[in-house]
Amino acid sequence: MTAEFEPVIGLEIHVELATRRKMFCGCPNTYGKEPNTVVCPVCMGHPGTLPVPNEEAVARAVQLGLALGAEIHPFSLFFRKNYFYPDLPKGYQITQYSASILTGGSLQGVRIERANLEEETAKSYHTETGDVLLDYNRAGIPLLEIVTHPDIRSPEQARAFLEELRLLLIYLGISECDMEKGQLRVDANISVRPVGSGSFGTKVEIKNLNSFRSVEHALRYEWERQAALISSGGTVEQETRLWDEFQKETRPMRSKEEAEDYRYFMEPDLPPLQLSRTWLEEQRAHLPELPEQRRKRYREVYHLSDKVLEALIADPAYGRYFEQLAEGLSRPELAGNWVAVHVLRVLKAEHLSMEDFPLSPDQLRPLLRMIEEERISHSAAQEVFEEMLRTGRDAASIVEERGLEQVSSDASLLPVVRAVLDAHPEIVEKYRRGKTGVLGVLIGAVMKETRGRANPQKVRELLMRELETS
Ligand SMILES: [Zn+2]
Repeated sequence: MTAEFEPVIGLEIHVELATRRKMFCGCPNTYGKEPNTVVCPVCMGHPGTLPVPNEEAVARAVQLGLALGAEIHPFSLFFRKNYFYPDLPKGYQITQYSASILTGGSLQGVRIERANLEEETAKSYHTETGDVLLDYNRAGIPLLEIVTHPDIRSPEQARAFLEELRLLLIYLGISECDMEKGQLRVDANISVRPVGSGSFGTKVEIKNLNSFRSVEHALRYEWERQAALISSGGTVEQETRLWDEFQKETRPMRSKEEAEDYRYFMEPDLPPLQLSRTWLEEQRAHLPELPEQRRKRYREVYHLSDKVLEALIADPAYGRYFEQLAEGLSRPELAGNWVAVHVLRVLKAEHLSMEDFPLSPDQLRPLLRMIEEERISHSAAQEVFEEMLRTGRDAASIVEERGLEQVSSDASLLPVVRAVLDAHPEIVEKYRRGKTGVLGVLIGAVMKETRGRANPQKVRELLMRELETS
């Protein structure tokens, strides 16, 4: 069914901005504090209080706009979105509505429609006894609402776009984008149409998407549901549906919550937001290296494989560690592999961030240098690495103590090689009759004799030389 219908998908993303303070008051922007302790008359909406926009939040929004190639409006407005709800002590939310700070721009070919500065509502908790508890600490935290055009054509593309946006937000330091903490939230709208058709079908909005994977699953479910409905002669209702993570299905939200009239009007307590050209230039000057720029540089400078490259790009801290580690190595790709494979394995297994990794780049580099110089094998290096993690001792002393240094000299290896050849005349005979594949057996025998310490490349060379000449 889905082969005949293509999905048309747009996303609406809410990101909590990692500012020091809330959007319109002096309360700290925190997470996880004792409920209802980080509040003040402004964010509790007491009469007579006045909001003051947070410059840091405006700067964050502008930096995202610069990174997306959006148009930044030096003149934007704030509105009141009126609705009475327990999570909104003021009875209205301040948002930019139709006078956005940013419009346009794109990411991965998906066009951005607009981004608006807003404020968070309180967080509600539903108890087992059916009560609703409210934590107003979250009320007033700066929020950026980012809306895309319906340019996305598959659930996988939606997920890839969100992953790239998340990466961009993290590189910019705009948000940590921890979805479990609600720092990044996604709503998706989707309609379907016959493949090749230029028109748009009726769209459905999906809410309650708690991970990028649920975005992908919910969109696939809706694509199939709408395609089946139309194929059987039905019509798609314009509605809001909730994703049920356990049942793996979407279902309609109560209609009561759909027909809302927000009675928007301009916020009388806030003047228009005006940004000077000098201030905007300052924001541009503060932009860090962005994920795509870093990918390009790593490809050009370090010649990393795509898999290693993406592993290192996934967190700005991985890249910083890698670059320090690679300094002074003649094969920086070795540093790339070690961070992507061994360091990240430890971080994942121990649930550590890069900052908590016990070995500094300066401690790890001597180990990689020994691999480069072929003084130790890769498997010995792993053994040393584990010991370094356990004890914090330096690589050289572990190698020495365990006798792991690779034997590469002719003088040490030649007697072993000759002894192995003497001990296996039948294999030597096979080799000479053209079955060169048996060389591996002979290399294995030498490695066994040296308890794995021989340099395999050197052993291969010596074996071949002996087999050709004697
Ligand atoms: Zn406050």
